[in-house]
Amino acid sequence: MAPTLHETGHIPTFVRRLEFAIRFLSDVAKLDTSFAIYRAMQESDRLQRNGCPSWLGDLAGPPHSLPFPMPHLHSFANISPASCKALPRELRSGCKRFLTGEIQARISLQLLHHRLEPQENGHARFIHLTRRHYLSRIVVPDHRLAVTQLLAGSFRFCGLHSSTTAVSLQRQLCWRCGQEKETPTHVFLVCSDPPTVDARHDLRSALSSRCNYWLPASLAGVPEGDRVRILRGLIFHWDRVLPVARFIFRVAKGWKWFGATFSNDVVESRPGMDGNE
Ligand SMILES: [Zn+2]
Repeated sequence: MAPTLHETGHIPTFVRRLEFAIRFLSDVAKLDTSFAIYRAMQESDRLQRNGCPSWLGDLAGPPHSLPFPMPHLHSFANISPASCKALPRELRSGCKRFLTGEIQARISLQLLHHRLEPQENGHARFIHLTRRHYLSRIVVPDHRLAVTQLLAGSFRFCGLHSSTTAVSLQRQLCWRCGQEKETPTHVFLVCSDPPTVDARHDLRSALSSRCNYWLPASLAGVPEGDRVRILRGLIFHWDRVLPVARFIFRVAKGWKWFGATFSNDVVESRPGMDGNE
């Protein structure tokens, strides 16, 4: 769910529901005792203080069950215009940090970690949640789908998981060349499988002629962290993404879309990671 929200810019329903209630409370707090709804809220406040069921009592519960910290809701009598404005903002920012943390904690979403959103003009920037408009530049649906599947972790790579004990080294190796662990960067940037090398050669030509970008002929000796940065720099780029999408589609199709089948805890466990790193 987190990748879907991350890529479409949608706020989860449980947050939106609370947001509506808080906005309603803010609107009522701006009124005075000449309004029946204001007096009803005062009564609700009195019931809550006495430990009786009430609308405000119901509203006080959900913020504490959220998967991210939220400030306590004040008593209705003490709600100020400033706190009315602050609560929805805190709710939104907490939700964004939470969803980003969910992405950061998943190994299969390696390419989405610290994702930068390309801009038509100016530098790419980090945005927690947004509809990824720039991907609509990829006009061939199959190419766009291949990029999305790669980013969303739908392609499973034998060498991309959390456990060094549950999966033998033999099972982690690339099934085409057997020279390195099968990871996205190995497959797309390094693998010596002949059809993949041909596709990479065509990509290199397209990048240099259309994007004025030179992709090194070999990244074999380059550390994994730098390879990931290079692959992200190819995908999260306003212009490069077009030839790169074609390349990803061509390779993925040739590889029959990958498909390691490890259990989820082996693939994703990544203790200690969060979105605020
Ligand atoms: Zn290989």
